Amino acid sequence: MPTSLLQAPLVMIGGGHAHLVALRQWIARGQRAPAGSLLINAQPYAWYSGMLPGLLAGRFTAAQCSIELAPLAAACGLTLICDELLALDASSQAILLASGKRLGFARLSLNTGALPAIDFKTDGSLPLVGAKPFPGIVQQVQQWQTWQTQPPAQLAILGGGAAGVELALALRMSLPQTQLSLFCRSGLLANHPPRLAPLARTRLSKAAVKLHENLPIERISDTQLYAAGRAVAQPDAVVLATGAAAAGWQPGSGLLCDEQGFIRINEQLQSCSHAAIFATGDCASLPNTPRAGVYAVRQGPVLAHNLLAATGSGTLQRYQPQPRALALLACGDGSALLSYGALATQGRLAGKLKDWLDLRFMREHRLPAHGD
Ligand SMILES: Cc1cc2nc3c(=O)[nH]c(=O)nc-3n(C[C@H](O)[C@H](O)[C@H](O)COP(=O)(O)OP(=O)(O)OC[C@H]3O[C@@H](n4cnc5c(N)ncnc54)[C@H](O)[C@@H]3O)c2cc1C
Repeated sequence: MPTSLLQAPLVMIGGGHAHLVALRQWIARGQRAPAGSLLINAQPYAWYSGMLPGLLAGRFTAAQCSIELAPLAAACGLTLICDELLALDASSQAILLASGKRLGFARLSLNTGALPAIDFKTDGSLPLVGAKPFPGIVQQVQQWQTWQTQPPAQLAILGGGAAGVELALALRMSLPQTQLSLFCRSGLLANHPPRLAPLARTRLSKAAVKLHENLPIERISDTQLYAAGRAVAQPDAVVLATGAAAAGWQPGSGLLCDEQGFIRINEQLQSCSHAAIFATGDCASLPNTPRAGVYAVRQGPVLAHNLLAATGSGTLQRYQPQPRALALLACGDGSALLSYGALATQGRLAGKLKDWLDLRFMREHRLPAHGD
């Protein structure tokens, strides 16, 4: 990458959960980023993933599930740029944005999330709708609901984790006429306590979602899904809730990445190869740290401290992942499935707890837009 035109002391890329928490913490403590610092995000809003299933189920509006970034950024001295990172050259500390801008940085913080994994071949005969980025799936479902594009008679959802279950139950509410199938590579909710899967199976069955466990999709060919060498479904579209894949720019950035292309970080949330670059949330790779919003949120306060400490002479803090996290899976009707450690339960009370936690997060991290 040629010499950068503009040098920023700190560039934060991605309006992910960790950055939201870090910005809010700086505001609460009256701290500011060094003058000339930038926040770069693909859109002017950050979406809160915990509420996306509720949005798709018609329980929340888009405004309730998103946070305007400009007021947050301005309150701690950052300028928001709506643009997309295309390439990073870690050694020369330079980035290239989709607009063609090239920038240099003294410190960089990456919280750009991940993309849905596509581990099957496709001939392109079926539309694929990723669960991420969120604006894409929100727009697609709205188009189906309002008949701007014909809603699918049959929809296949790939992914037997929490996101797959939540999306299947949410789409049942928004697309009542559509036949829904959920395909799981292994068993349903295999990474959760064993007691949760039977509860989820019952919910899916009541919602008329056809469940296929231990059936990894190998390819899409001529509008058919193939698994174990045979055609298993012929949907009109496919929703991907298949787990996380690293963004294409990560492996070529010069940063040390794991075998899947995620950025290896240390306990101080710094790149293991380039100490001036921090990474948090789903784009990063740290032992014992699953890719979930709750982990990214807990990284936020440590990141807030370390980004400022790294620009001065302060001591960096260490992030310790919590040994277990509360999981609340929205069922689309206001109730939820709950798991914590070996405990698993479900019901309206769990749904109320989920709504309370999600809405509290939104209240705590939203600032009124300029002029509101
Ligand atoms: C349907 C669904 C429901 C979920 N529910 C939960 C839940 O209830 N609890 C939970 O813990 N986890 C949940 N998750 C997982 C959760 O979404 C992720 O783990 C979490 O969003 C990761 O947050 P993050 O901070 O890494 O970044 P993200 O929240 O993914 O945010 C990344 C941001 O970076 C921006 N960005 C990305 N690439 C670029 C680029 N190149 N240039 C500029 N900006 C960029 C994006 O626009 C976005 O604003 C859910 C996931 C899905 C799909």
